[in-house]
Amino acid sequence: LWQALCALLVVCASCAVSNARLNKSDAQFSQAGGAPQTVQNVRVQQQTLPGDLVELQAVNPRIRVFLPYATANNFAKQQLYPTGMRCFVRRSAAEKLDSIQRFLEPMGLGLKVFDGYRPLSVQKKMWALVPDENYVANPAKGSRHNRGAAVDVTLVRLNDGEELLMPTPFDDFTDKASHRAVEGIPAEALRNRFLLRSVMEKFGFRALLSEWWHYDEIGWERYDILDIDSVLVR
Ligand SMILES: [Zn+2]
Repeated sequence: LWQALCALLVVCASCAVSNARLNKSDAQFSQAGGAPQTVQNVRVQQQTLPGDLVELQAVNPRIRVFLPYATANNFAKQQLYPTGMRCFVRRSAAEKLDSIQRFLEPMGLGLKVFDGYRPLSVQKKMWALVPDENYVANPAKGSRHNRGAAVDVTLVRLNDGEELLMPTPFDDFTDKASHRAVEGIPAEALRNRFLLRSVMEKFGFRALLSEWWHYDEIGWERYDILDIDSVLVR
């Protein structure tokens, strides 16, 4: 399987290497887009959502979604999203993720998404807890997640949803989470990290060097920051 996979991905692998000059952190980006758009009383039906946000699992229900921020089991040690929060992203990002899922399935693999659109109000809470731009984007500038144009994602086995081994758990803010990290990481985890990056970049996302799980949609700059809050629940 790995030989076939590597042959398949060799082209996009060289892309990945050439993309090594990546932004250091999710926290860093231009301020294109201006002031955040605040939207209140938005109905949950996806056709009413602003900015062409769509529910990821409405586009492809086979993509697994688990949002640690909707539980207390996350870096903040508290629930940041309302119970039942769903995963929304811009339609263009959802369509790319759909393509990636379809590409992975013949290999017996799939995607599991930990975060997509993140309300600006949650970004402010995160910043209050961890005011360090190495780990959390400053809400004054917003995160690409606040634009619905970034996902935190890993690979799973298609049949049972078991996560593939990666160098660290999600939101492990250590050097081991970097795409550059090699030392002390099992070869299997390095292969999985490489496969995830190769597939995501093949279909129009770009890796964040410091976090193996974070991907920005190429072209995220065209999307404004949105502040849609607790309406995004079941
Ligand atoms: Zn992220």
